Amino acid sequence: LLEVFASEARLEALTLDGHRVNVYCNVGSFEELRILDQYGCEGVGLFRVEFAYMARSTPPSEEELYELFSKSAQLMGGKALTVRAPDIGGDKPVPFLELPREQNPQLGLRGARLLFKYREELLLPLVRALLRASRHGRLRLMLPMVSAVEEAEEFRRVVEEERERLEASGVSTGRLELGVMVETPSSALLAGSLVSRGGLSFISFGTNDLTQYVLAADRGNSLVAYLYDELSPAVLRLIAQAVRQVKGRAEIEVCGEMASRPLAIPVLLGLGVESLSVAPQFVGRVKYVVRRLRVENIKREVGELLEYAEGPGDVREWSKKVLDESGVAV
Ligand code: PEP
Ligand code: MG
Repeated sequence: LLEVFASEARLEALTLDGHRVNVYCNVGSFEELRILDQYGCEGVGLFRVEFAYMARSTPPSEEELYELFSKSAQLMGGKALTVRAPDIGGDKPVPFLELPREQNPQLGLRGARLLFKYREELLLPLVRALLRASRHGRLRLMLPMVSAVEEAEEFRRVVEEERERLEASGVSTGRLELGVMVETPSSALLAGSLVSRGGLSFISFGTNDLTQYVLAADRGNSLVAYLYDELSPAVLRLIAQAVRQVKGRAEIEVCGEMASRPLAIPVLLGLGVESLSVAPQFVGRVKYVVRRLRVENIKREVGELLEYAEGPGDVREWSKKVLDESGVAV
């Protein structure tokens, strides 16, 4: 089977009834980006750039980030590279910020919240570097941990202002697509407004966090791991609700681990997800599954499934049946 996956990695992710699915990669370092060519993904749906902020006494400068992103954009040869603004704070401390200890770091100052608070030090250099580097490739910027529409508006404003500032001082900028991670319940429920107010061209479900926030079960706490299940109908109904609001207006992606799990793929495609971003080693397996499904049948059935499912067990049972009938052996 591993050989089958390897040979599928190079093929197009077209379902049996002709739906195209974009299979992107999740990448966590520049070194990984360098060897991406061998994996067969259509772009990078999640470039985690926390590495550029760790183990140093000052945040990276605009120039350093410009170097990193222009090199990275060039490596991609025209394929999309989605840079996620660093999701630091909370339980991911960085040495150059003295952050207060928080009672509930997962509900505290992390992601977009921290980036806006430390706008001068963190957000502006990143935005400026990306606006400049986007002349060398297809870059996208994605904001993590968004929970309110005002954050998406603020995001758009910051990018527009920095673009004007750069252009006014004679520095040319390229097209930079904006998106947000949908990884809090409120962002899923407000997805349509996030897209319109933020001028977004894509959203990406961060199902690792979304699951923990929907089920109130810390993703790293083994004591409540039995509750943490991304196939919970509660998580899926929330995704469905967001997709309904956004369909046709922005690209709909999933970049949490869920996107690479064979049992989740029929469900996600049935919900109307268009792109799956997965760790490079899973590209072949994901394409293998996608290429054996018929989306139109599945869509109808997922609608019914979301009506009757009471727990993840019902979802698994349905999904196993679909994979079986499709001749998928995983
Ligand atoms: C997620 O939350 O699903 C995600 C992709 O981001 P991270 O795992 O980095 O929090
Ligand atoms: Mg996350």
